[in-house]
Amino acid sequence: MDWIPKTKLGQQVANGEITLDEIFTSGKKIKEPEIVDKLVPGLQSEIILIGGSPGKGGGIKRTPTRRTARMHRSGRRYRVSALAVVGDGNGHVGIGKAQSLENRDAINKAIVSAKLNIIPVKRACGSWECVCGETHSIPVKVEGKAGSVRVVLMPAPKGIGLCINDEAKKIIRLAGIKDIWSMSDGESRSRVNYAFAIYNALKNMNSMKFPQDYSPDDVRKPVAEAVEVLLDEDVDIEEENKGEE
Ligand SMILES: [Zn+2]
Repeated sequence: MDWIPKTKLGQQVANGEITLDEIFTSGKKIKEPEIVDKLVPGLQSEIILIGGSPGKGGGIKRTPTRRTARMHRSGRRYRVSALAVVGDGNGHVGIGKAQSLENRDAINKAIVSAKLNIIPVKRACGSWECVCGETHSIPVKVEGKAGSVRVVLMPAPKGIGLCINDEAKKIIRLAGIKDIWSMSDGESRSRVNYAFAIYNALKNMNSMKFPQDYSPDDVRKPVAEAVEVLLDEDVDIEEENKGEE
């Protein structure tokens, strides 16, 4: 790969000094898409269809990009925007939006932006009807917002599939989730906000702690410390008692 890193983090990645998990836990910002190319094997991308033109015989024909016009002295100026999702189908996903004068350029920029927005996705079997302990769904019910759109994602039992609209399926599938239930309200015709609301819901799970996030050491250490404190206190109590007599 002909990549000359421009950032310190990029250099660390190129030298194999840092893992993706370490980047996420340290909260370091990824500013080069090559970091993601290098650290996330099997990364795929998809375009979320955000455009639409009236199709033959009524209805809307969905298109990858949305064209917006802006008035200018010399006439209309058009710009196209695109929304992309990247993921490895195994617990990592990102989405990004970009604008340009040309379709292809807008799509490429959106993919780069999606890579820079990559996040880890917590997966589990949070369904009380299933309780299989595998990672086919999400651990808990979670909510995400973007603009006026609010999306709620809920754990579903194995075999239910992705109960969410087709464009949203692209995000959930690339995140590596196989079964999910969803609800949404607000202006969900806004595909961009809808997609970002889903992304934000997945992101919100990262600020929650689940049993699988604790290593045995996390539990042992506080217990050991508590025991030490209790043993110390025993001595203190005896001394205090003596003082009282
Ligand atoms: Zn299950």
